[in-house]
Amino acid sequence: MEEYLRPSLKSNKPICFCDMDGCVADYDKRVQENRVAGIKEHELTRAKNAYKDLELIPGAYDAVQWLSEHFDFYLASTSPWSCPDAWMQKRIWAEEYLGKVVKKRLILTHNKGLLKGDLLIDDRIANGVADFEGTFIHFGSLQFPDWDTTIEWLKNGDGQKIFERFEVRQRILKSKCYR
Ligand SMILES: [Mg+2]
Repeated sequence: MEEYLRPSLKSNKPICFCDMDGCVADYDKRVQENRVAGIKEHELTRAKNAYKDLELIPGAYDAVQWLSEHFDFYLASTSPWSCPDAWMQKRIWAEEYLGKVVKKRLILTHNKGLLKGDLLIDDRIANGVADFEGTFIHFGSLQFPDWDTTIEWLKNGDGQKIFERFEVRQRILKSKCYR
């Protein structure tokens, strides 16, 4: 019988969480466009359709497909409490723009520090990101300015250590099971 590090997930891949706005959805562009039209960010957050039809960040679609292949992948986003409609818009956007790999893989939370997994990709350290216990990729920073750099780091750079650590944990689990 197959044993899993996280039995409820039945997955033998490390877990990756990825933020939406600023990582896969270009919310900043919408903020800028609205600023030009005289609408402030806090007004936009409450506006109808603020999160609808956001453009994809360059490279995000392919990156999410790659991440879904190599990780147990989840979107982890914070949605404004004052605008319940935004929660629905994010769910619809995820399916329309990222496809079936994100089906039932959207977590909306105001505390990402409670997420238990191997990798978190986020463009901000707000909403509990600083408390995340796995590896953190600060998307948009000097080290990870875009998706090409980020995926390359995971494929051929220090990001490989995430997979190595996961393998070690799996070996330990199996040695316990078959002792
Ligand atoms: Mg963000």
